Amino acid sequence: MILDGKLLARKVEEHLKVQVRELAAQFGRAPGLGVILVGDNPASHAYVGTKKKVAARSGLESFDATLPANSNYADVAAAIDRFNQDARIDGILMQLPLPKGLDAENLLERILPEKDSDGLHSSNQGKLMRGQPGVRPCTPVGCMKLIDLALSGKDLSSPSFSLSTLSPASLKGKRAVVIGRSILVGKPLALLLLERDATVTVAHSKTANLAEVVREADVVVAAVGMPNLVKGEWIKPGAIAIDVGTTRGDEGKLVGDIEFEIAKKRAAAITPVPGGVGPMTVAMLMVNTVENFIARNRGVR
Ligand code: NAP
Repeated sequence: MILDGKLLARKVEEHLKVQVRELAAQFGRAPGLGVILVGDNPASHAYVGTKKKVAARSGLESFDATLPANSNYADVAAAIDRFNQDARIDGILMQLPLPKGLDAENLLERILPEKDSDGLHSSNQGKLMRGQPGVRPCTPVGCMKLIDLALSGKDLSSPSFSLSTLSPASLKGKRAVVIGRSILVGKPLALLLLERDATVTVAHSKTANLAEVVREADVVVAAVGMPNLVKGEWIKPGAIAIDVGTTRGDEGKLVGDIEFEIAKKRAAAITPVPGGVGPMTVAMLMVNTVENFIARNRGVR
């Protein structure tokens, strides 16, 4: 089974569109996403363009703060403060990486936790650690949805497929390996897998014998950024393989961390790169923004 993240993300968008229409009718406005983009990084511009397109398709309103590359800390902080105070904005996305010299960690902390759409504020990460409700990071949640799809055995392309029937799958008794331990992907994902009762191993650059670790896993998530680091033959037959890694290869093509052609013959389900985790990350950004809207309007968060 090739886990079609692009199609699943479209289903999420369709679901959001209906939900947003109802919310707008009830509360008098649509949820708003504030997008902060600093500098001229072409990849960041492309990512922001995609996120704004998806926001529009999902019925969200977007607000922009586009700042020049020579902006200083105070300039970016002022843009965050403006969005924090703007009642029309429910989710703030500050596109990373920021130009050199800007302290991203401190700037991320400046975003109000209830307007954090990326789930990267320490308050939200602390809530994840404690198993409390809060904003969860987009990429890890997107990975979990793809794992749910794999375990559901449902056919995404069937007209009868409904997102609401995709329930959180139990990983009781299963071994999961997350390769990578960043705050953005690896660590939060390990906690989400643990919440589902998986037995989780987190591998990283100092892990000895990665092949052996991967061979044991029923669920493998690779989030490193090294093309084909995970050899296809390491994948346990019947495992679920989720490839978060994206590296621009020759001719500008995106390449994942897992050796796809060989791995797909062994895995029960595998994500492609591109078209797997990436679109789900963007979809989850919209879901977080809508959930922030609901929580703010109902005074929950
Ligand atoms: P990161 O902060 O650079 O973290 C990379 C992790 O990989 C680190 O924990 C590092 O270990 C580990 N690592 C490095 N070399 C390794 C090796 N030889 N064996 C095992 N582990 C190794 O990266 P990130 O932000 O988590 O992103 C990871 C990848 O996912 C990147 O390719 C990024 O572009 C991609 N990504 C994709 C999406 C998407 O939506 N598709 C979203 C986010 C990220 P140490 O901690 O020991 O250094």
